[in-house]
Amino acid sequence: MATDTQIRHDDALHRRGLMLILSSPSGAGKTTVSRMLLEADGFIRLSVSATTRPMRPGEIDGTHYHFVDEPTFDRMVEDGEFMEWAYVFGYRYGTPKSQIKAGLREGVDFLFDIDWQGTQQLYQKAETDVVRVFLLPPSIDELHRRLTSRGTDSPEVIADRMSRAQAEISHWDGYDYVIVNDNIEQCFEKVCGILASERLSRARQTGLIGFVRELMRPVV
Ligand code: 5GP
Repeated sequence: MATDTQIRHDDALHRRGLMLILSSPSGAGKTTVSRMLLEADGFIRLSVSATTRPMRPGEIDGTHYHFVDEPTFDRMVEDGEFMEWAYVFGYRYGTPKSQIKAGLREGVDFLFDIDWQGTQQLYQKAETDVVRVFLLPPSIDELHRRLTSRGTDSPEVIADRMSRAQAEISHWDGYDYVIVNDNIEQCFEKVCGILASERLSRARQTGLIGFVRELMRPVV
């Protein structure tokens, strides 16, 4: 996790953090790209969602998700603890507010692996902090291949997965950037490029005013 000092050092001028949202249908590479980004960039943190979905093998509570039961999720909703929440495939998922607001002020960037519903809600609440990126699979055949590669699922399960993926794809136009992922390395480079540009946006570089004022100081 990046410290405040590291963040200032990296950016030279103080800036506001951003919220990088990565969405895609399953099978388009979102999980891989997220992992690559978190490993390569010490200045972005994953926003860990809360969910009512049961834990899958290999998942760690507090790292992949905060796994909570229905009454706990209800309480979190009532107490206004979420920036957004939504039903996704029958379970509830939500983005906890804690840490994000203060982190953004300090210049911390956050990565969100959330669906189109959460993206819309975050955009409505924090438009200027949000950068929305959508990954598309290179073709329908490739998507089908990726969703069947485990080889153990029934045709009904596969058909269900395909139709969910296509439903997610239909929201592609609610994003600022769209990348067709036909090569994971290139896709990752493109996401890094977007992040680098967005970090330089004038509005985010809150340290600029003082810096430029100093540049314009009359020299005698
Ligand atoms: P999975 O259960 O496979 O980890 O995730 C299922 C879907 O839920 C994915 O599309 C993921 O992006 C989405 N998701 C995960 N966390 C959140 C969240 O906090 N809010 C919303 N709206 N969607 C989420």
